[in-house]
Amino acid sequence: MAYVFQENVFDVIVCGAGHAGCEAALAAARLGASTLLLTGNLDTIAQMSCNPAIGGQAKGQIVREIDALGGEMAVNTDATGIQFRLLNESKGPAVQSPRAQCDKKAYQFRMKHALELQPGLQIFQATVTGLIVEGGKVVGCHSNLDIDFHGRTVVLTTGTFLRGLLHIGTNKNEGGRLGDFSARTLSGSLEASGIELRRFKTGTPARVLGRSLDFSKMEEQKGDAQPTLFAFHDTRDPEAMFHVEHAGQCQQGWAPGSDQLSCWMTYTTERSAEIVRANKHTSAMYSGQIQGVGPRYCPSIEDKFVRFADKSRHLLFLEPEGRHTDEYYINGLSTSMPFHVQLELIHSIPGMENAVVVRPAYAVEYDYAPPTQLWPSLESRIVEGLFCAGQLNGTSGYEEAAGQGAVAGINAAQKVRGGEPLVLRRHEAYIGVLIDDLVTKGTNEPYRMFTSRAEHRLLLNHGSAELRMLPHLRRLPGLVGVGRLERIEHKAERVGHWCAQLESARSHGVTFGDLIRRVGNEPELPAEFLQEDATVRDEVLYRIRYRGYLEREGRIIERLAGLERVKVPADLDFLAIRGLRKECALKLAAQRPATLGQASRISGVSPADLSVLLVLIESGRAGDGTAPTPPQSMPAS
Ligand SMILES: Cc1cc2nc3c(=O)[nH]c(=O)nc-3n(C[C@H](O)[C@H](O)[C@H](O)COP(=O)(O)OP(=O)(O)OC[C@H]3O[C@@H](n4cnc5c(N)ncnc54)[C@H](O)[C@@H]3O)c2cc1C
Repeated sequence: MAYVFQENVFDVIVCGAGHAGCEAALAAARLGASTLLLTGNLDTIAQMSCNPAIGGQAKGQIVREIDALGGEMAVNTDATGIQFRLLNESKGPAVQSPRAQCDKKAYQFRMKHALELQPGLQIFQATVTGLIVEGGKVVGCHSNLDIDFHGRTVVLTTGTFLRGLLHIGTNKNEGGRLGDFSARTLSGSLEASGIELRRFKTGTPARVLGRSLDFSKMEEQKGDAQPTLFAFHDTRDPEAMFHVEHAGQCQQGWAPGSDQLSCWMTYTTERSAEIVRANKHTSAMYSGQIQGVGPRYCPSIEDKFVRFADKSRHLLFLEPEGRHTDEYYINGLSTSMPFHVQLELIHSIPGMENAVVVRPAYAVEYDYAPPTQLWPSLESRIVEGLFCAGQLNGTSGYEEAAGQGAVAGINAAQKVRGGEPLVLRRHEAYIGVLIDDLVTKGTNEPYRMFTSRAEHRLLLNHGSAELRMLPHLRRLPGLVGVGRLERIEHKAERVGHWCAQLESARSHGVTFGDLIRRVGNEPELPAEFLQEDATVRDEVLYRIRYRGYLEREGRIIERLAGLERVKVPADLDFLAIRGLRKECALKLAAQRPATLGQASRISGVSPADLSVLLVLIESGRAGDGTAPTPPQSMPAS
């Protein structure tokens, strides 16, 4: 007979304290729900299973959106970051993305402390072994400790742990990560409730000791002198900004963005290619030992030498794992070949001839639950009150997991208090694109976010995340504090004011707006404007500079709502349309939809493809197949 944990029924029980679980638990508690976070091991809270980095293309924008929703990932990254870089700095702001290397352990400790300090949230170490479901509704869960937990909703965020199986060559071990447990029985419980599970796989490279590396043979990559932080520090009050550091004992000893560490670049050699070719058959992936599907965009080194056979060498990054460890992560050298082959391979690379390996590379296979079984709120269509987020939904990546976690936590709390769920639309947030893609189309490989997945990415620049989330923050009090909400309102007001002001005020007879839009022009702007906070100035300049494109996006959003009314010319040559993906063009050519509405229902036709078609048809140039091309500074489809 199991002991029942506390007499009270929790509003929300979150199962798993990875990146999804932490955000889910914090969001639910911040909305006032009594929340319990159960996790198999308190010492691995928010562990980065793979590389010690947050952000990058599209992912950086997701982190900003999580921050705008009151989440923790951005502040945690800033407080524990050891190198900051703004990617695509030379391109348009719409595709610029912040990225940071973090101190892996500091990241975990700080997140654990943030959870400990959160009012309304209790954390407890236990492995969930099954759901308690009554009449199609979840009412709690069982654990390995013979303790049962009762809750009105459950958020599952079990990552790579469901029937996790680790592979190194022919060697197999059970586990969600090397050194971790495998959640075996929970899968059976989900299946017994009618939830379908499938297998995916992913992999991670070996870790080596820095003192055994010859950095003189590598190229140094420093962080940005002016680091781009992730959190919107301008709208936080100083107390909230580093609440953990102020309230707790865990001073990091360095300020965000200061005292950065370098990464190092090196390349595989001809010898590396020979080793891989000679031993490819021993890799767990190639020997047929792994059944799960892996991410195409994150290929193992054996995959790279096969798929990109014409490339003579592959770039690798040596990334420090923290300030208080000498471990380096070899970014780009993921493999599931036997350990002795891994060693030979590593030693064939300049600077790593004498590398001491402290953790082997491996692949992990795990169960995921196809996300088409979820409502857009991330609640299960099969078991009421059950929410799923993160790698469990078929995604890959810390940021994708955290973004879903925040939404699942919010919606679990909303369900308990009878509120409207938060469903972000595709033009509002990358998180909206992510969840919409998952629940409407599903995924047949681990899903990663790219800017190209977002058809309205011009509207999703990282600087505007708070303004985009503002309508939701107003109706979800608690997600951010009252003071921060007021500052975001103020920011929105200032941005609106200056956009209008600069479009109407003139300098030498020309509006400031027109002067700003003149290519290569650096107009002298009103002194009062220059005194505004940099985040306000940047957003105003972005909106003015790209006004035409942003207005066009707005029109497209309105028109996409009426897709059924848009006729596709019968003679349209899909294969000649620039900007349309080949795979999509072939499908359209084969099925010849009569309207865009019909086109949108063809599997493999993405909203980005529909946007290309819509612009083409609306421009009246459908006959010659040439879609208007965005200027250099705009991201291409
Ligand atoms: C080997 C490996 C390589 C990876 N490589 C990449 C990569 O190259 N690129 C990339 O983008 N992503 C990669 N990932 C994925 C990345 O780690 C995940 O996307 C991300 O961590 C998912 O976050 P999550 O919160 O969904 O799950 P996780 O971070 O996996 O966290 C799951 C949490 O749930 C807990 N848990 C699990 N089951 C139970 C249970 N039954 N009861 C209680 N607690 C439970 C665990 O202890 C853990 O705290 C890799 C992961 C692994 C393991």
